Amino acid sequence: MNGKRAAVVTSGCQMNKYESERIAGILVGLGYDMTDDVRTASLVLLNTCSVRDKAEQKVYSQLGHLRWLKRNNPELIVGVCGCVAQQEGERIQERAPHVDLVFGPQNIPKLPALLAEVQTHQRQVSDLADNPLWDEQLFPIRRESPFQAWVTVMQGCDKFCTFCVVPYTRGREQSRPTAAIQREIETLAGQGYREVTLLGQIIDSYGKRSAEGKDLADLLELIHPIEGISRIRFITSHPRHFTEKLMRTVGVLEKVCEYIHLPVQSGSNSILRRMHRGYTREDYLARVERLRTLVPDVAISTDVIIGFPGETDEDFEQTRHLVEAAEFDSMYLFKYSPRPGTKAATFPDQIPDALKSERFQAILELQEAIQLQRNRARVGRCEEVLVEGPSKKGSVQLTGRTRQNRPVNFVGHPSLIGSLVTVKIEKGGVHSLEGQVCAE
Ligand code: SAM
Ligand code: SF4
Repeated sequence: MNGKRAAVVTSGCQMNKYESERIAGILVGLGYDMTDDVRTASLVLLNTCSVRDKAEQKVYSQLGHLRWLKRNNPELIVGVCGCVAQQEGERIQERAPHVDLVFGPQNIPKLPALLAEVQTHQRQVSDLADNPLWDEQLFPIRRESPFQAWVTVMQGCDKFCTFCVVPYTRGREQSRPTAAIQREIETLAGQGYREVTLLGQIIDSYGKRSAEGKDLADLLELIHPIEGISRIRFITSHPRHFTEKLMRTVGVLEKVCEYIHLPVQSGSNSILRRMHRGYTREDYLARVERLRTLVPDVAISTDVIIGFPGETDEDFEQTRHLVEAAEFDSMYLFKYSPRPGTKAATFPDQIPDALKSERFQAILELQEAIQLQRNRARVGRCEEVLVEGPSKKGSVQLTGRTRQNRPVNFVGHPSLIGSLVTVKIEKGGVHSLEGQVCAE
């Protein structure tokens, strides 16, 4: 051990978590030991999210803490990467002069050179250039789990929904070649991985721009035969691109889990139009119905934004009705947060926070009641569970997820972690199920 220790602190989505695994792989290759304790690290990288302003504010408060650490340890290197880095750029180093390094999500492969520059020249460094070529270099990625893996199949987004910062921070949409994805999953299978989750901001438009002419359904067909992989998931789907072909493919391919994340954002057609989502509430509900027909027992989760500019009581009622009609299995609920550079941030009629909170609470209560009912309906079933680890509830309790992505807690021996077991469901709560192992 040479004493170099690095901590990567991650906020935000699965894409960021995956990219932190890539960053950790690079750092281990450079001779760093990874740690979760920023106090003992010689390098701290904040991998940030700027989708909502709360996440962004968190970065500046974390940087405040790191300034204090750097005062006691001037050798400490502090870096900011991810979406806030891309969006704020060198302003971060102006506001927080103790930040040595700023780089965007497209420049992770350059990390060794950027660090060398900081160390050699003892000066602040930043790299926010667009790097439109898919990076095919192989990095020794350091994955958090030995049996579940994320695999990026697309980068960027061209949709420019009026509320969203992603197209500005993650650049243009690009699909990765199928052969590279297959190779990565074959390697994972060889290393004992059981579950892969394909990642992309609009994953159901995979392949749209590539010369290969293969879409997501084709990709699923290609990776399905890979031996050793038992479960395949993919996120996030856009309602506009979820084709009949894709639904049928999910319905017939055994390893593809019956879980679809399909963000609706709003139930009001006038809001959906102003969000530039490209579908109506009727389109969305028709898609949900078709999915439930073609993929038996599918669980559907969604994202909803409350308080988009100009949201009237009538718009809100439309969202409430859509939530009732769609009966989602789970939901990520957000209060609209104006993002710099996006169109909606300039719209008139921004909604006061108190009204957003009131509407948020109403949807939350409605969704929790629906979720409780849907989870209770699982009682008595035997569900396949991939055991993920000890549950927070106690030492003999384990936790895992069903094919429909429902968390399940049950009593079991830690040797089960990483394997598929069958659990008989005995209780359904709002957020999780409880049961007993009936077969291994
Ligand atoms: N690509 C996905 C899609 O089209 O649905 C969403 C990706 S975005 C990183 C994740 C979620 O954050 C969105 O579905 C949306 O609900 C939420 N979100 C994005 N921008 C937001 C904003 N300005 N305010 C509140 N929530 C926001
Ligand atoms: Fe953002 Fe819309 Fe792209 Fe999703 S589809 S990442 S919400 S711009």
